[in-house]
Amino acid sequence: MKRTVAESGSPHVRNIRRYYENSLYPGATLNSVFYDAGTMRDVRYRNARGDLYPEGKETAVEFHLGAERPILREGSRCATVYGESTRELTFDIDLTDYDATGLALRYGCPCPSSGKTMCRECAFLLDGAVAVLNFFATEVFRFGSLLWTYSGNRGVHLWINDPIARSLTKSARTTLFEIVDLASSTERLKSNLKDPVSPRVRFIYESVLEPLFRRRLLDDAGLFESPAGRATTISILNLVDEELADYFRTSQEKGNALWNAAKTRARSPTNDVDPCAFLVFRFLYPVMDRNVTVSPHHQVKQPFSAHAATGKVELPFDPNGREPFSFDPDAFPSVADLLAGGGADSFRKGVDLLKKFGDRSKSNFSICPAARSDK
Ligand SMILES: [Zn+2]
Repeated sequence: MKRTVAESGSPHVRNIRRYYENSLYPGATLNSVFYDAGTMRDVRYRNARGDLYPEGKETAVEFHLGAERPILREGSRCATVYGESTRELTFDIDLTDYDATGLALRYGCPCPSSGKTMCRECAFLLDGAVAVLNFFATEVFRFGSLLWTYSGNRGVHLWINDPIARSLTKSARTTLFEIVDLASSTERLKSNLKDPVSPRVRFIYESVLEPLFRRRLLDDAGLFESPAGRATTISILNLVDEELADYFRTSQEKGNALWNAAKTRARSPTNDVDPCAFLVFRFLYPVMDRNVTVSPHHQVKQPFSAHAATGKVELPFDPNGREPFSFDPDAFPSVADLLAGGGADSFRKGVDLLKKFGDRSKSNFSICPAARSDK
């Protein structure tokens, strides 16, 4: 997507350049985490206009990391790249891709009128995405070396650094992606929600997404009370249960009372998909950029890069607190904030998370429960 960014001489871009030259940019740590000795990494650079260009031609404001391959030095002159390439396993979530349902939900948030791309009110869509992907990465696949970063605009990235994740082929990455990708089409979602649903899908519905749906969509956003929210709900339910869609069209009930009533309504004997689960997954299940995960050569913006359009830093964050994770884009500093001394705490925490991510020794990868050790 073409982005509108400031001209290269603007204060915005000067700030971004100063950020890279400033001692707080963790260049040495990034080098040790993302550039292995004896390897050559495919890196691309984005300039102030947002275009990708070859190294050395212009001043970069973003770095994009691709695959890494071992090199064979021939004296001091040149290096021959040989061997299999490796790369972190990555997932990319962007609210831009949620717009089919996401925009209908934004009636309550200031984004459409303020021109902002994401605010505290609509960022809850990322809460569900982070919780679901974290569950797959740590509980299903049992990866140990994870890094979550804010993209700097409307999304988040997940990086997985376990040795086995780095060496996955395209077909293995595709398999993993498809295990996670439960809801990218109506038919796919219906088949994943068919009775009897798997324990994994039941857990995601009952323990992750439905509580979030009640809290953020029913209680905070008043989904069923707004004409746009009610209309979107009805159009989604029409795909799986026209009788229930009709009930939503005529019912005087509101919020959680309406939701509870819908959940207890008997399904027609021919309907083997729970329409309430279908609605919740349609709203909240992560929409992922397939190529970012399946292609071993795909370029992803390096953590701690400054976003060329927003000036926000791609900062790591930790979603594993005691409270349910709640994404707040305002908690992430821009380069201008950092240069003025703001955001120091979250920046320092981000550097600590990056250092931990560099440790690839915690993997217990498995997609087959029978293959797990009981210890
Ligand atoms: Zn918003």
